[in-house]
Amino acid sequence: MTKINLAELNIKKAHELLRGGEISARELVDFYLENIKRHDKNIHAYLEVFDDVFEQAEAVDKKIKLGKELPLLAGIPLAVKDLILIKSKKCSAGSKILENFNAPYSAAVIEKLDNQGAVYLGRTNMDEFAMGVSTEYSAFGPTKNPYDLKRVPGGSSGGSAAAVAQQECLAALGSDTGGSIRQPASFCGLVGLKPTYGSVSRRGLIAMASSLDQIGPLTKTVEDAEIIFGAIKGKDPLDSTSVGNPISHKSATKSDFVVGVPKEFFNMEGENKGISEDVIKNTKKAINNLKTRGFKIKEVSIPSLNYVVETYYIIMPAEVSTNLARYDGVKYGLAKKGKTLLEDYLKTRRAGFGDEPRRRILLGNYVLSSGYYDAFYGRARRAVSAMKNDFKKVFSEVDILLSPTTPTSAFKIGEKTGNPVEMYLADIFTCGANLAGLPAISLPNGLSENGLPIGLQFIAPWFEEEKLFETGKVFEKCGLQI
Ligand code: GLN
Repeated sequence: MTKINLAELNIKKAHELLRGGEISARELVDFYLENIKRHDKNIHAYLEVFDDVFEQAEAVDKKIKLGKELPLLAGIPLAVKDLILIKSKKCSAGSKILENFNAPYSAAVIEKLDNQGAVYLGRTNMDEFAMGVSTEYSAFGPTKNPYDLKRVPGGSSGGSAAAVAQQECLAALGSDTGGSIRQPASFCGLVGLKPTYGSVSRRGLIAMASSLDQIGPLTKTVEDAEIIFGAIKGKDPLDSTSVGNPISHKSATKSDFVVGVPKEFFNMEGENKGISEDVIKNTKKAINNLKTRGFKIKEVSIPSLNYVVETYYIIMPAEVSTNLARYDGVKYGLAKKGKTLLEDYLKTRRAGFGDEPRRRILLGNYVLSSGYYDAFYGRARRAVSAMKNDFKKVFSEVDILLSPTTPTSAFKIGEKTGNPVEMYLADIFTCGANLAGLPAISLPNGLSENGLPIGLQFIAPWFEEEKLFETGKVFEKCGLQI
């Protein structure tokens, strides 16, 4: 068997090795299983490593032996966030209430990856029902950041991010409702893509907030993210919000390509409250590096961005309270018995939900309750319309937008658990793209003084993921390295 430098493997390289017979799919998964054995007791990226990994790999090896055409993702070992259904596997969404829930069918994205022969190593840890920025809200204990075990890996897709960063899989799937792919990608030095709302089917994704949720990849390179996105996107007749995506874009290599920097996000000159010095420094360096590569940088204004967190924390809990109403012990998971049916519900929900889902269910019911609906939910929806219009306008002036992904690098475990609002502020740069439905990517942008990864975010117009990949590939070469 060839000596393989795992750290340098990407999807295309692994594919070439498999196709050329230099490594078998079984040997490839063996590498990752070894790493999981070695590191995961410290990192806790996985909730479960599947017991049929070798069988999955051997099925691919059989195809290779028969000389069959090998799709790019055949035999590629992936990790899957614990809220994407894989038929007959457990899927708990990081919650006690679904602890023993077995998926009756596979998510649309898994069907697509199955067609290519991808291998699933296991399901990864996450904040309960994807609510959080640190993976500390998982009912099954926190995940640690491979760069510093005292720190969080980000969330809610923290298990997926830590697994990729620790070389416990080649790439992973996550979901992003307000930043849950991009923020952990930024904390763990990875690429994380949140696709345009509707470009990837949500069928078989345990819903958090249905108008915001999207599945996307966490990977080591932009090209890997592009490959996985290419495999999972597309119209699904069983998800009425999914769309076939007509892509028209202006090439990033053209000389008149303009990168907009929203001053509401990142004030290039003035004071930057709440953003750490390291993040400011690296973002400014990124801007300069892009300038030297011929990109034009333009400061723009998107006034409604001043209200993103407030708006998100009305729309999201409203949808959460509706989506989580179904967990009552009758159809799903945990069931506690009381004296009456109502008591059954109450006991089940009390025992099954952690504090954060409970907080959001209460908030959601409140903003939707009669008398308050217009004052909160109605106004938040109007703010979303204003935001979409603002973005539309700004994309007539610039090709792509740039901002930091997060205000700080990874924080310490326990540092913010006592203060939910501080946690919520971690989404300040990311949740705007979810509210407007825009595609956005986080890229590694060097390290902080104390050696922690920092991320840079690009946001593109609707369905123009291509622009993110093109710009991302240029930036991978000219940006700060990790
Ligand atoms: N951190 C955000 C929240 O807690 C976003 C979560 C997500 O994207 N799933 O709601």
